[in-house]
Amino acid sequence: MTYPDGDLRDQLAHLGAAAVSAGLVVGSGGNLSAREHGADTCWVTGAGTWLDRLGRDDFALVRIADGAVVGGHPGPSSEWRLHTATYRVRADVNAIVHLHPQTSVLLTALGHDIALATTDHAFYLREVAVVPFSTPGGAELADAAAAAVAGGTDAVVLAHHGCSVLADTVELAHKRAFNLEEAARLTRDALLLADGRPPPSCPPFRAGGSV
Ligand SMILES: [Zn+2]
Repeated sequence: MTYPDGDLRDQLAHLGAAAVSAGLVVGSGGNLSAREHGADTCWVTGAGTWLDRLGRDDFALVRIADGAVVGGHPGPSSEWRLHTATYRVRADVNAIVHLHPQTSVLLTALGHDIALATTDHAFYLREVAVVPFSTPGGAELADAAAAAVAGGTDAVVLAHHGCSVLADTVELAHKRAFNLEEAARLTRDALLLADGRPPPSCPPFRAGGSV
């Protein structure tokens, strides 16, 4: 099948179901957002919603400048600041995926970088930032994550918590988030198998065509 198009809430619902199915988040954890290109509002998953059961009514329409709810679900996720702060510094970003992928979080908690060992990982991620722990839902965490991606990085691990992955479309954010956890799993395997050697990195290459 091709990726759903049209209403951004339908695209995010598709992503949410896939993320739960893939084990990238459990229960009602994680949250998603998207905006029309250039819009001053974004759709954010509502507080208490489950990512694998999202309908259009489960999204709050939030003003990016100040977090005011201007439509849809009355209460956005408690982590809405993570989304609005990043949109404010990245005009090119139209979708943000915040999940709790266990291997990405565990590796960084142990002090390991997530290696980009395959062409997919290098192409979709390019680099992965890490921000120190701060309270989930707080402005400090949102500001730290925004600062980490302001220069163009599209994937950041929030220590002991989860990830924030960005893209210009929901579909690309989906691919990027899945590649992040897959890269982390491969890094874990490399650490277990490599007998003390550092995890491998993909050689430099110029992406042509699909990877
Ligand atoms: Zn979270």
